[in-house]
Amino acid sequence: MKWNSIVVKLGTSILFLVLAILLPLGFIMNQIFTGFYFNKVQEQINELSSRYASSITSLEEKDILNMFELLATMTDQEIVIVNEQGIVVANSGLPSLPKGERINADDLSLLVSDALVQKEYYDKISKRRYLSVGRPIISQERFLGGIFVLASVEDMYQSLEIIKKSVVLAGTGAVFLAFGFTFIVSRKLSNPLLEMEKATRKIAKGDLNTRISSSTKDEIGSLATAINDLAVELHRYRSNRREFFANISHELRTPITYLEGYANALENNLYRTEDEKRQYLQIIQQEAGRMSKLVQDLFELSKMEEGKLALHFEEIDLIEVVENALLKTKIKAQEKRLQLEFNKVYHLPTIYADGLRMEQIVINLIENAIRYTEKGTINIKLTSDPDRVKLTVEDTGIGIPNEDVPYLFERFYRVEKSRSREFGGSGLGLAIVKQLVELQNGTISVKSDVGKGTCFELIFPISKGDAQ
Ligand code: ADP
Repeated sequence: MKWNSIVVKLGTSILFLVLAILLPLGFIMNQIFTGFYFNKVQEQINELSSRYASSITSLEEKDILNMFELLATMTDQEIVIVNEQGIVVANSGLPSLPKGERINADDLSLLVSDALVQKEYYDKISKRRYLSVGRPIISQERFLGGIFVLASVEDMYQSLEIIKKSVVLAGTGAVFLAFGFTFIVSRKLSNPLLEMEKATRKIAKGDLNTRISSSTKDEIGSLATAINDLAVELHRYRSNRREFFANISHELRTPITYLEGYANALENNLYRTEDEKRQYLQIIQQEAGRMSKLVQDLFELSKMEEGKLALHFEEIDLIEVVENALLKTKIKAQEKRLQLEFNKVYHLPTIYADGLRMEQIVINLIENAIRYTEKGTINIKLTSDPDRVKLTVEDTGIGIPNEDVPYLFERFYRVEKSRSREFGGSGLGLAIVKQLVELQNGTISVKSDVGKGTCFELIFPISKGDAQ
């Protein structure tokens, strides 16, 4: 396992979190517990010492002193009584202060000055700790000595020790818990991530058939699905690119062969008449034109696909656009004796689009209709409803088989491979049209019957300013 892996980070965070809660909690508990306990004991021995001190009138009576010693053995406290010189005259059982021993001079002077002696006392012989209160014994305004009441705090220190041990134990438990958690999570989280890493590296090396098997429905599962989708997409992209280059070289090879052949014929004077020579030159011109159109179309399409085509959006009237397109395609239609019909409406809501690009779309569709129609009429219709405008270009031409319709807008897709070349198309027209329509927020669809004709339908949203 790597030290900078997510699992280790997670484990350490949990450990820190648990310790961050446990340590202050232990400290606070310790403070509250000791504070509370000390106060209570202090109060108790204060009161007792006061009661005892006021009940002593003389230190001469042995019986009274014995009674106090006896009294102390029946309670948790110890009692030490000293005379006016600070010499112990009664002791209920504190080994370090036997009878006859002198107490510390500071304590005695406090008692003499009628002050309380409050302190923690450590009995060196029994090795026990006490809270002690010493109080002067005054009878008839005469200082007789002092009484010390001592309560053992050993039990409390033992309880504190237990609390400290519990905190340490809980801390150690937290460390083990964090390690255990790290171990479990590493199996649940880290292993699938490592598997994904391996798979993505394989995909990056070009093995696009690699897939990750994941059955979970959580974030890891969706990451695995996303990587699988990426691999599928890359696979599709790679085959598209391969197909695209094959198509381009195929498209370029034909005109280049023509150009080479006819230029060669002209160079070697392989023509019989001037007419033949002119015919050869015309072919060269046509093929060069075709090549230039192909390159231009490809350039335009790649710009659109990369989102780099600048469109000039404005409010446009589709009636005007269609009329301009009709003017430009009229001659081609006349050459084939085809009728171009436009159901002229007098008012149409405007759409927000690029006028020139819109004209390019309409010209392309009309030219296709002319190209693939031998006789009959080409109908262009404009209609609208409250939120959209519809443009249809319908012909009475050769039609498109149903199975070809889904692929019609793909680059270089042709219904019959030889058919479009014979008619002079590059196979990119509809791909460009679809891109342009979508860039202008429109949709395009097609309906066709083989032998009867084809109808392209374009829908654009009405611009907001013109919506009723
Ligand atoms: P091209 O430049 O070859 O015409 P397009 O992308 O414009 O390429 O069209 C793709 C194919 O769709 C054409 O090769 C043709 O087979 C078919 N097609 C397009 N428009 C029509 C139409 N109006 N009638 C019949 N077939 C059509």
